[in-house]
Amino acid sequence: MSEMILGSRGLVLNEPLLWEKGRKGRNAFSPPRRDVPEASVDPDLVGDDLDFPDLSEVELVRHYTRLSTWNFGVDTGMYPLGSCTMKYNPKTNERQAALPGLAKAHPLLPPHLAQGPLELMYRLEQYLAEVTGMDAVSVQPAAGAHGELAGMLLMYAYLKSRNSQRSKIIIPDTAHGTNPASAALCGYRPVPVASNDQGILSTETIADVMDEDTAGIMVTNPNTIGLFEDNIKEISDVVHDKGGLVYCDGANMNALMGIVDMNEIGIDVLHLNLHKSFSTPHGGGGPGSGPVCVNEKLVPFLPVPRVVRNGDSYDLSEDFPDSIGKLDTFYGHFGVMVKAYSYIRSLGPDGLKKVSQLAVLNANYIKEKLKGTYHLPFDRTCMHECVFDDSIQNELKVTTLDIAKRLMDYGFHPPTVYFPLVIPGAIMVEPTETEPKENLDLFIDAMKRIAEEAKENPEILKSAPHKSKVRRLDETTAARKPCLAG
Ligand SMILES: *Cc1c(COP(=O)(O)O)cnc(C)c1O
Repeated sequence: MSEMILGSRGLVLNEPLLWEKGRKGRNAFSPPRRDVPEASVDPDLVGDDLDFPDLSEVELVRHYTRLSTWNFGVDTGMYPLGSCTMKYNPKTNERQAALPGLAKAHPLLPPHLAQGPLELMYRLEQYLAEVTGMDAVSVQPAAGAHGELAGMLLMYAYLKSRNSQRSKIIIPDTAHGTNPASAALCGYRPVPVASNDQGILSTETIADVMDEDTAGIMVTNPNTIGLFEDNIKEISDVVHDKGGLVYCDGANMNALMGIVDMNEIGIDVLHLNLHKSFSTPHGGGGPGSGPVCVNEKLVPFLPVPRVVRNGDSYDLSEDFPDSIGKLDTFYGHFGVMVKAYSYIRSLGPDGLKKVSQLAVLNANYIKEKLKGTYHLPFDRTCMHECVFDDSIQNELKVTTLDIAKRLMDYGFHPPTVYFPLVIPGAIMVEPTETEPKENLDLFIDAMKRIAEEAKENPEILKSAPHKSKVRRLDETTAARKPCLAG
């Protein structure tokens, strides 16, 4: 009871609903003195049963500040969610995106009044072409999966233009889950193929299934196990020899920037996730951006309108007769583009390369330090993320879920768990390049302690978390009947 009177449990502050806090007659804000005659409000317009809580300013400020402390984010601590790149993004990029001339540019402004935003989009497309090695880019797709769909539509349009309609597409078991969905949405039938015992694709496996009714392959590279597809060049040759195209899911480009030229390894089309690699956090429920990057073959089919340059000015053009058309109401999520532009300009080519080198270094550091403590299904140099499983702990009846929940008691957001599906009980760690070594060491230490606890006191894992606002929830009930009242 006393803890309720203080309104807190330790430093985890409780917070009732605003309606429970409100007391008639309090207010948080005094509007300026009226300088027009008083008029009564038509009750038919507003109704007479409005139920707004009356609150003082301090109650209002504390309400939202307390709620904000219940959330864990990249500004709070390490967030090693694999396949998501939840990295700390420089705040300066938010500042540029909030500049009034950019943030308030209306999408229906005529081009001569929107030269700044148009130039920014034009230049961003050029930078992304350079980063990937591709020939042209459209920043229109609004998310990663939307970029995939754009890529599928481009492949379809290209094959149609050559009178070579096809019905299938090859999708490895290490592809991201959105890949088969995007292909199916475009009407292609996904043909699943298995990776080899190294966790990557063998050229022979692809040669066995690639035929003249197959539009091509959709390969995630680095794949969802965090491994580089070493045979990608030969695989591309096999696909091209049969008239197909190679799609690369490049959402993980943050492992390869300045290091791998996608065009050179045979990629025809790929998408990026600006809301992972280029300074917008993924998973925040906010807008995303999934630019689609193509080689020469696919340029005529890119979505319209395209930003074009005429001498010193920029314009929007629909004059591309072979285009797959429009994918968005307007031109994509401009705020995300501004952040990506600002990120690329502030880091420069050497800085971007360093981002990838550090992302790969950090993941390999964790992999090397934790291997043996946790089982590593594919013991090879990884890219920006590494994947363990719970097979060592299973012998003690401890599972990935218990380990993930216990990590919260040590102050870490859990990594991605039970994904990718090819690794049962997967624990997928992506530290990102922005985490300093001290934090990686604390994370490694916590993971090692948890492995010890699994041996000595598994109960503490089974009932974790112990220090969070809510304890172990029934996963199904929490999802189906969420209690949102705190
Ligand atoms: C995140 C991700 C996607 C999907 O991106 P969304 O923006 O969530 O649609 C696709 N592929 C890979 C490899 C990813 O990591």
